[in-house]
Amino acid sequence: MNPANEPSFRDSVDLMFNRAVALMDLPPGLEEKIRVCNATYTVRFGVRLRGRIHTFTGYRSVHSEHMEPVKGGIRYAMAVNQNEVEALAALMTYKCALVEAPFGGSKGGLCIDPREYDEHELELITRRFAYELIKRDMINPAQNVPAPDMGTGEREMAWIADQYKRMNTTDINGVACVTGKPINAGGIQGRTEATGRGVQYGLRAFFRDPEGMKKAGLSGSLEGKRVIVQGLGNVGYHAAKFLSEQDGCKITAIIERDGALHDEDGLNVEAVHQWITKHGTITGYPDTHCEADGAKLLEAECDILIPAALEGVINLSNASEIKAPLIIEAANGPVTAGADEVLRKKGTVIVPDMYANAGGVTVSYFEWVKNLSHIRFGRMQRRAEEARHQLVVDELERLSSDKGLGWTLSPNFKEQYLRGAGELELVRSGLDDTMSTAYEAMAQVWHGREDVDDLRTAAYLVSIEKVAASYRAKGL
Ligand code: GLU
Repeated sequence: MNPANEPSFRDSVDLMFNRAVALMDLPPGLEEKIRVCNATYTVRFGVRLRGRIHTFTGYRSVHSEHMEPVKGGIRYAMAVNQNEVEALAALMTYKCALVEAPFGGSKGGLCIDPREYDEHELELITRRFAYELIKRDMINPAQNVPAPDMGTGEREMAWIADQYKRMNTTDINGVACVTGKPINAGGIQGRTEATGRGVQYGLRAFFRDPEGMKKAGLSGSLEGKRVIVQGLGNVGYHAAKFLSEQDGCKITAIIERDGALHDEDGLNVEAVHQWITKHGTITGYPDTHCEADGAKLLEAECDILIPAALEGVINLSNASEIKAPLIIEAANGPVTAGADEVLRKKGTVIVPDMYANAGGVTVSYFEWVKNLSHIRFGRMQRRAEEARHQLVVDELERLSSDKGLGWTLSPNFKEQYLRGAGELELVRSGLDDTMSTAYEAMAQVWHGREDVDDLRTAAYLVSIEKVAASYRAKGL
């Protein structure tokens, strides 16, 4: 989406970048080198389907190669264009730097409505697009590693990995050419939920920051907070599910492209998700008010607003009407630069996209490391850890009976303590640590510098500083 009379998404990202670099003291010219997109490749290819040749247009943009491989998803949507892909690639650079995933930024897209094709057709199209990128090293475990984004998922990633292996039969690290694969094709536990899980961990980190909470005018814990989610795709669904089931949030509205459900007592996210999967629409969901003009609900009263779909949904046309004191950008670029300014002036706190949705690429990083090490996380340590914990439990129980102390360990404690960490627990722990550390780095700048009054600028400062440091280290 490109709201009328507003800068394009690409320009919006640059404007936000410029606001931040104005506060930095970078060597002359380095700021421009970091801001520009290094290269964007456009490919048009044909696939024979339904008796005729269909021509598709795809892109892979590399924003910054200060670290390689470069990383970023591949999006399937009709709105994909060069401008959008470049904006998203730039955000990947800043996102990876902020959460210390050792990658440059990239993004790809295919101009296609995936709902118009059946599975076999999508496989032919995906393999052909992958072929075009692989033969130019734009998919390669050492140079450029795609992942899922809007309109793609683990199925497409498995096709891409397989295509790469067919074309590079002796590359022992071939499976690391793409992340977000299914478990049985070299994926990692917890990747599908990762971006939504990261939103949950990011919000928890925010709620542990008393100064940030004060700036948003919020108090207490996540329990009972009213949350509006826009977009119940992979990211919105997991974020809403975890926040409602584990943190006690009330999901008071779910906005989808064909309407919105509203219930101040809180919606059952799992039930709504199942309804959408079954019926392909939110309308008709039983016993709940359905608002045909869904976007209106972005403006409803709530504590936390989570835009988790397209870019530009909060723009100059609705920014002044937004009531949420806290917005967490689960999508990339949901708030335009113009709206960002309006909201900042109103005192709305925005947890920026490059932080809020970094859970996906963080777990992609773990998957890539797993692929390169050719072993599942936890495989070597788990039993050894369990055996050592068993020793402690046995010793405690022996002491208790020898000394007649009558202690009994609660079964819950025993069960939890004795279980060594498997891959999913390690992934969640690594993600939690990443989100907490990155939040602290941002918050330190946000609260510590008088010339910084928002988290987005703080996030840019932290990440640009890291990108600049790696350019300096290279002697550029
Ligand atoms: N497409 C996701 C993003 O925008 C994930 C990228 C990745 O895992 O490389 O962050």
